[in-house]
This record gives sequence, C-alpha cells and structure tokens, in this order.
Amino acid sequence: MTSHFLHGRGTVYPGFLDAHVHLALIDPTMLHRGGIARILDLGGWLPRDPSPSMPDLAYAYQFVTAPGGYPSRAVWAEPGWSCPVDSAADAARAVDLQVAAGASVLKITLNAVAGPVLGADALVALVGRAHNRGLPVVAHAEGAGQAERAFTAGVDAFAHTPFSERLPDGLLTAMAARMTWISTLDIHGWGYPTAAFEIASDNLRRFHRNGGRVLYGTDLGNGPLPLGVNHREIVALLGAGLTPDDVLAALCSSTPLKLTVADTRVTFVPGERPRDPEDFADWLVAARALTRPELEVLA
Ligand SMILES: [Zn+2]
Repeated sequence: MTSHFLHGRGTVYPGFLDAHVHLALIDPTMLHRGGIARILDLGGWLPRDPSPSMPDLAYAYQFVTAPGGYPSRAVWAEPGWSCPVDSAADAARAVDLQVAAGASVLKITLNAVAGPVLGADALVALVGRAHNRGLPVVAHAEGAGQAERAFTAGVDAFAHTPFSERLPDGLLTAMAARMTWISTLDIHGWGYPTAAFEIASDNLRRFHRNGGRVLYGTDLGNGPLPLGVNHREIVALLGAGLTPDDVLAALCSSTPLKLTVADTRVTFVPGERPRDPEDFADWLVAARALTRPELEVLA
C-alpha cells in the first residue's frame, strides 16, 4: 500500500474501504466526510443512479438465505431484501438474480440463532454457481458450527469475524490459508465489550497471526456506529494484534475479495502520523475522503 506525505499537511492514502455497509440504512453521502471513500454493501441496497457524493462501491443486492431465514424476519429488513433458497436446484436462479441486478459479490446468511439455515446441498450449489459467475461469496455465520459449515462449503469471506464460539487452531489455520475476514468487532457492545467481542477478538488475533487476510468493516447501518472511520473498531483491531500498518492495509486493499471497486477518491489524514501506536486511532479518525481535484486544491 502506497501513501505519500503532503508537505506540512498530512498523509494521502488509497481510498479507505469499509467492507461491510448497508447503504439502505444510512445516509451514504455523509461517508466521505468521515474518511470512507469506498464501500462494499452487504445486503439490502437496491441499485439506483449514482450521485457524485456517493462513495465508490461494490454490492451484494439481496441476502440469500433459507426460506424464513435471517434477515427475512428482522424488523430492519424489508421483505424484498431477502432471496429465499430451499434447495440446490434453486441455487442458480438465486445467484443469477443477483448478477442481473449488478451484484459483484454474493451475500449468504447462515444464522442458526435467528431462523432456519441453508442445507449443505443448497449451500454448496450456491457457492459453486457464484464462483462460476465470477462472484466471491461472503457469509454471515452465526450459531455454533456455522462458520465451519461455511468454510467447508467454499465460502470466501466472513461478513463478521466469527463470534459464536472459539474456533480451534487447526480450523483457524486452514481458514487463514484461503479466507478473508471482515472485522466488525465493535458491533459487539459498541464500546461496552460483550462476551462475543472477546470471542471474536481472540479468533481474529489467531487468524491474523496465521496470515489470514483481514478487511476493515463495521456493519454500518446496524446499531450506533459513526458515519466514517470508527475509532472503536480501530482500537479493537489494534487490541487483536494488528499493527498500525496492518490496520492501514485492512483499510486500503486495492482488490478486496479480488473485486474491482472504482476509486475516484483518496483518503487524506491531516497531520503527521504519530510514532506512538497509542495515538494512532485518534489521528486516523480525522481522515476525510477527497476527489483528486479536491486534493489538488489542498496541495
Ligand atoms: Zn450486515
């Protein structure tokens, strides 16, 4: 990841990415003021005409789930946001529907705590069809054993660091060899860490230590989260053993999940990067996303 220092001004990075956002639940035009230049929408956003104040984005369109599965019964989700799949024979139709709507990533849910989950055959068929159509698969895995099921079926990424149980080292090592995890640590208590926060932090620490790829992501739209770089998420990542350079790599991935996301903005952080890691999060949250003409004015 390359950055450069604008003399006396601050540091310019590739546009920061929040890899887990629900645009339908927030005001997307506010994000660049908070430093976020690019986003991955993981469900519920129906494509419309782009506005210049929107972040650059790639999106999933619907949540693909079992009939009656999460989030089709959640109060925050509109009925049209979920795409039920009841069998392997139904998988191609569901995936093709997302592709036709412009999706470049498939979002599936395996939330055993909030309803029925996809069976093994349907899961494998969905992953296979998505890969055939060139889509990486991101899963929300929740409930004991669901993360392992997703991994075994060939899922590429988790929308949340697994938080339902401590994953054994052998499984974590295997996951680290080929998966990407989107962090979302702060959703577990929003500054008042819950048991799930501790489980997720421990899993993420070992996943990262084993070389697993981590993307910064917040699940923006669900819960009291700031519209921009989240100080608590940054502190939680540092707490899970990522260095400040690792955190910047998690924010600046040029091809997250091998996706091409447009990058019309860069992220500018005023002032000099502090030497003390303790001061890193405070410094980073002053970030703002700028178009290249806006940056020219600054320079
Ligand atoms: Zn989400």
